[in-house]
Amino acid sequence: MHQDEYAPHVSEAISALGYVKPEYASVLEALMPRCMTEHPHAVAREIRKTGTQITDDEKTRLGIKRNGFMSREALSMLTDHGKQHPLLALENTLLRALFSCYRERHIEELYELQRQCDKPVFALIKGAVADCPGCAKLDLKVRPSEAAAQFPIVGCSRDACAVLMEADIDFLTGVN
Ligand SMILES: [Zn+2]
Repeated sequence: MHQDEYAPHVSEAISALGYVKPEYASVLEALMPRCMTEHPHAVAREIRKTGTQITDDEKTRLGIKRNGFMSREALSMLTDHGKQHPLLALENTLLRALFSCYRERHIEELYELQRQCDKPVFALIKGAVADCPGCAKLDLKVRPSEAAAQFPIVGCSRDACAVLMEADIDFLTGVN
């Protein structure tokens, strides 16, 4: 995946969550390839760890323990809203963009499967968490062309919901 292809996912995550200043979108895009192999928690933690740390007083004001990491550079990426969730702001923005990338890839795979298969291919979208009012409503069987329109999930209360999608092939079509 080329770095440009992460751009729409990163920009959706930045605007939906409002934790990271939009001018840092390119910084997050550059981190996305790493998030494909390393959990965003580890990637974000390293960004917080690298560079000059803020003072203990500043940490206390932000609700961060003294042994928690927060570099000046990492803090400057956050909006006022992001500073209310300083340890999760970057991580959850990356995680949301990552799930969005995965879904886009999956939808492309479904198109590819449809090209190779003479039976109708559907995307089965499953709610991953029953306690999320938006995701609990999911249990949809849609054509690949309609799958992307289900996201972002309306009414999803989480920063980054890991909604699963799987291929469902209608093998019985045309069979009597
Ligand atoms: Zn949800």
